[in-house]
Amino acid sequence: MTWVGVALLGMVAWLGARVLARAARRQPDQRESLLRQYSSWRFYHLIALISYFAATLYLGGWGWAVQQLCESPNTVQASKLVWPDAEPLSPGKFSDPEQPPPASGRASLPVPGADLLLLAPFVVGLVLSWASFYDVDRALQESAPWSDVQTPFWSRSAYVGFHLRQNLALIFAPLLLVMAQKALLWTFSEKKDNVWLIQLAALILLPVVFVSLPWMLRILLGLRPLPPGPLRNRLLGAARRLDFRFSNILLWNTHGGVANAMVAGVLPVPRYVLLTDRLINELSPDEVEAVFGHEVGHVKHHHMLYYVGFLLISVTVVAAFCDLLITWVPGLEARLRFNEDWTKIPFIGIIGAYIFVVFGFVSRRCERQADIFGCRAVSCARPDCAGHAEGVTLLPGGRGLCATGIRTFIDALEKVARLNGMSRSKPGWLQSWQHSTIARRVEFLQGVLAEPALEGRFQRTVGRVKWALLVGLVAVLVLLGALQGWDRMVPF
Ligand SMILES: [Zn+2]
Ligand SMILES: [Zn+2]
Repeated sequence: MTWVGVALLGMVAWLGARVLARAARRQPDQRESLLRQYSSWRFYHLIALISYFAATLYLGGWGWAVQQLCESPNTVQASKLVWPDAEPLSPGKFSDPEQPPPASGRASLPVPGADLLLLAPFVVGLVLSWASFYDVDRALQESAPWSDVQTPFWSRSAYVGFHLRQNLALIFAPLLLVMAQKALLWTFSEKKDNVWLIQLAALILLPVVFVSLPWMLRILLGLRPLPPGPLRNRLLGAARRLDFRFSNILLWNTHGGVANAMVAGVLPVPRYVLLTDRLINELSPDEVEAVFGHEVGHVKHHHMLYYVGFLLISVTVVAAFCDLLITWVPGLEARLRFNEDWTKIPFIGIIGAYIFVVFGFVSRRCERQADIFGCRAVSCARPDCAGHAEGVTLLPGGRGLCATGIRTFIDALEKVARLNGMSRSKPGWLQSWQHSTIARRVEFLQGVLAEPALEGRFQRTVGRVKWALLVGLVAVLVLLGALQGWDRMVPF
């Protein structure tokens, strides 16, 4: 049943993609409105896939089936170890009355690797949807007014492979962490005194996984260093000028599909700046340098550290809050106990909404800070300069902010939107909750161009907002810790 549903969702994606791809080829003048429709269509399809996956996992018995498949003699002990006060469960909907109730608790799947099987319907659903959406992206690209017949659109397998790799890389690190913790539990579950030792090990594992993330990214995405040449020399020069320490510039081969850049790494080593092939092929060297400056800006403003601290405290606070909610709301605990898996639903729902709203809010402001740094990276000492001649002196440390620098960055942003087939002003939530829309980012930079004092005010406000959020979160954490007892505050 689970897989029939996955196939149906794949078919729906394929039908929708067919209609949209046809419309893109027949009405190239309707491009902007089609982009909008396409983006909302993708968004709703993803929501449907997530909802369906949650339903099969919790209601349809997929979670139960995997659990039965991966049952091990250690299961019962492991669950008691994590949740010593867990009571025996009332039999769930799918349990056999002859059998004892399935062991559950926070470590309901202690066999390492079971998580991958658990996720399989979702991953397969995603792959099917990418394989369908390929047609729309291709039609949109080939019917674009600036379409270039010389470079063919990438193949379907390259397109799907790119999305798969990119998404796996994103969920790989947390998944690895969870699996490592479960492997620890599985190995040591006979010794009950080791609870704290295991939790301590999990806490030490977290920064280790996090610091080594850039290496994992490099392997998973199959990245190679940017080949020697004028562009590489130019970017290395920019890094020296901006006093930016990192391991390497890596080229991200997307077969000409995507124009994007990324920085990964909290420590100087390993830390990589990733540039896609399409970005360096279609942007001018000035513009690539500005985009590089944007990535450097994320590091200079310590965004990654802030995100990690913010998300860690947030997850702890939300988990503790859900615990409180479950114990305080009359009748809720008993209802959720009917099926142990249900206790996770409020947590997943609240954390999802929280990340979308609060983290999105912080992230959009950080992106703007990085945008300004990108402008500064290619700015000279004259704020009102009219253009940069060959061999112009750019200011070290990103201290300058000139009109040409801002214009270069704006051009780069506009090109990135165009090359990726994004709607400029209404790209849909999925593409803008984290970065804001290209139109708003450009509008802000044009505001700075018109009134340079705007920048200082913006930086001060963002600084205050970020600190206030962090201090507020820590205050809530302390309050919940005092209410709940600190021993229940470990989010693992
Ligand atoms: Zn950014
Ligand atoms: Zn200038």
